[in-house]
Amino acid sequence: MIIVVKKGTKEEFIDNIKDTLLANGMTFYVLQGSSYVLIPVAGDLTTSDMGRFRSLKGVERIINISKPYFMVSKHYREKSIVDLGDGIDIGSDFTVISGPCSVESADSLDKIAAFLSGLGVKILRGGTFKMRTSPYSFQGLGENGVKILNETAGRYNMKTISEIVDVRHIDLFEQYIDIIQVGARNMMNFALLKELGKSSKPILLKRSANATIEEFLSSAEYIMAEGNENIILCERGITSFDDSTRSLVNIAAIPIIKEQTHLPVILDPSHSVGSFKYVPQVSEAAVVLGADGLIVETHYNPTNALSDGYQSLNFNHFESMYKKVLKLCEFKKENL
Ligand code: PEP
Ligand code: MN
Repeated sequence: MIIVVKKGTKEEFIDNIKDTLLANGMTFYVLQGSSYVLIPVAGDLTTSDMGRFRSLKGVERIINISKPYFMVSKHYREKSIVDLGDGIDIGSDFTVISGPCSVESADSLDKIAAFLSGLGVKILRGGTFKMRTSPYSFQGLGENGVKILNETAGRYNMKTISEIVDVRHIDLFEQYIDIIQVGARNMMNFALLKELGKSSKPILLKRSANATIEEFLSSAEYIMAEGNENIILCERGITSFDDSTRSLVNIAAIPIIKEQTHLPVILDPSHSVGSFKYVPQVSEAAVVLGADGLIVETHYNPTNALSDGYQSLNFNHFESMYKKVLKLCEFKKENL
C-alpha cells in the first residue's frame, strides 16, 4: 500500500505515522514528492486491516496495491481447465451449455435434451431450486427436479448443471449434479461459498449484478481457498440505469477478467440481455472476445415456459446461433 500524507502535515505527525508502521512490523520508505509526502509500505498486507492507518493524523488516503485474492490470479497459475470427465473440458475448447431456465417436467426436459444433444451440446442446464423475486412465482421442482435433470442427462450422455441456493442441499447436488451453479444473488453468500470450497464438484460462479470484478474474483477466492480449484466464472450482466436490456452485458468484462485470472470465463447472454432477440449477437461477441463458453436458455415453446420464457431461444433460434458460434470458433482457430 501507499500512504499519501496530507500537504503541510507537521513533521511530528509524519514521525507518528512512521512509528506506528514500525510498531506493526512494516517496512517502508518516505518519499518527498513535489507537493506530497508518499510512504510506500511493504509488510504482511493480506492479513492486516490497512484501513486502520487511515485514522492516523496526517493521512490523506491509502492506495492499495495488492489485490484481495491470490489463488484465482495469474500469479498462482497461468491457466486452468475444468475437466468434467468423458472428454469434456471447460477452458480448452469453446463450451456451450444449454437447457431451460427451470426443469419443468420429465417430458419437457427430455424434448429439450434430445434436441440439444442431437446438435452436439454436452452440458444440460436446468434450474431446480429457483431464486424468484416473488414467492408466488414458480419455485422449481426441488429435489425431484434434480433427479429428473440427472436421469434425463444420463439418457443423452450429457453432463448437468443446476443452481444451488442452500448449504443443506450440497449432498443432494453432489450426488446428482456435475457442475454446481452459484447464482448471481448468492455470489456473496460466503458461508455457501466456503462449503462449496470443500466439495469435489466443479462450481460455476455467477457474477452478482451489483459486484465489481474485484468482488467477483474475491468470491471465487473463497471457494478456492477451501481447496476446490475447479471453478468456472460466469459474467451475466450488471445493473444499469438503462432498462433497454434486463442487465447491462459488460462484454469488456470477458477480456478484463481473463487477463486477471487463470479460471475459465463464460458468458450468460440470456440473463444479461433478457430478450431472445439479442442473445445470438451477444453470443457471437463472446466468442470474438475470447470467452471460454456460453450458458444459454433454450425451450421448445418459450411462450409457455414457467420461467424466463422471453429470453429463452426456441429450437430454430438456438440451432442457428449454435452453428454460427461453432463457425466463428473454427474461423478463430484457423485464422486468428
Ligand atoms: C439462472 O441461471 O437460472 C439464473 C437465475 O441466473 P442468475 O443467477 O445469473 O440470475
Ligand atoms: Mn433463467
